[in-house]
Amino acid sequence: MPVGTAGTVKAVPQDILEDLGAQIILGNTYHLYLRPGHELVRKLGGLHRFMSWERALLTDSGGFQVFSLSELRKVKEEGVSFRSHLDGTSHLFTPERSMEIQIALGADIVMAFDECTEHPAERERARSSMEMTLRWAKRSKDCFEAHKHEVPWGDRVIGRTEEPVSAQPGAAAVHDSTTKPTTPALFGIVQGGMYEDLRRESAERTIELDFPGYAIGGLSVGESRARTMEMIAAVLEILPKDKPRYVMGVGYPEEIVQYAAMGVDMMDCVLPTRAARHGLLFTSEGRINIKNARYAQDQGPADPKCACRVCSRYTRAYLRHLFVSAEPLAGVLNTVHNLAFYLDTMRSVRHAITLGDLSGILSGSVSLT
Ligand SMILES: [Zn+2]
Repeated sequence: MPVGTAGTVKAVPQDILEDLGAQIILGNTYHLYLRPGHELVRKLGGLHRFMSWERALLTDSGGFQVFSLSELRKVKEEGVSFRSHLDGTSHLFTPERSMEIQIALGADIVMAFDECTEHPAERERARSSMEMTLRWAKRSKDCFEAHKHEVPWGDRVIGRTEEPVSAQPGAAAVHDSTTKPTTPALFGIVQGGMYEDLRRESAERTIELDFPGYAIGGLSVGESRARTMEMIAAVLEILPKDKPRYVMGVGYPEEIVQYAAMGVDMMDCVLPTRAARHGLLFTSEGRINIKNARYAQDQGPADPKCACRVCSRYTRAYLRHLFVSAEPLAGVLNTVHNLAFYLDTMRSVRHAITLGDLSGILSGSVSLT
């Protein structure tokens, strides 16, 4: 899932995202709540309509951004109070508030409000944080069930029927002619720090709450990649295979291939878009830094194996010129290519899964680094 923090995947128009084959994008609750405000988005028909995106949307709970961006945050049983990083105003996020905001935004997949345990964390701290996330998951679910029909989907072009149909659990994210959900789906989030047994316990007790999909949160927070994989492997043994399994906030191209091979269905990361704006391109020949002087006269495409609109049209020399001249088009073209590379990577993974053989893509993924 490309990350569209504030109602936009930075630098990329929605029609290009569609052309690239993005099936779902992610919006950040924290940012949209602060600006333009969820009540305004609700009034304008919800995030789909506001940003003119008819495909699926997932919103995070707001918790992670509160922990990473806001100032003077204070965690209590009730929720998290914090000051906006924009203007210093005081706010309170609770599980109920997070549900209210996400339902107002009208996402297809809503995430339970959780506490992203900091890293490193002592075992007892990780346990009490995990317990809090479980209590918040229950409160999220109770509130979500009471209000999930209040999504502002009335004017939606697709994904909505005139007559309410009962949504199948887990099917709400899929919009096609046969599945027309009238309510979003709420996913639970597994925490537990970097402790395998706490992760397992968190998974078991989150499953008891019965969600249509499950996320693994609190990873890629500074731990080694080997540790990330251990945590994912431990949790995947427990999470049901017939429901979407989502690892939040990962990763490099070779990582997402590995996690998909382990049984992960969904991932999101700012890496392809953020790196692009810094001139870092992911290619079949590895990562390249387009501002490097060696590309000044390079007439080849960013990635000779990529068929995206950027690689079919522009040279490395031109991309480098745009970047070193700080032209806005540099961010656009670099981002479009990186997203094409990520989405193509996942398309190859899906194809390999269909064929029942991931060995080729796993060994091939080494060259992605
Ligand atoms: Zn390309």
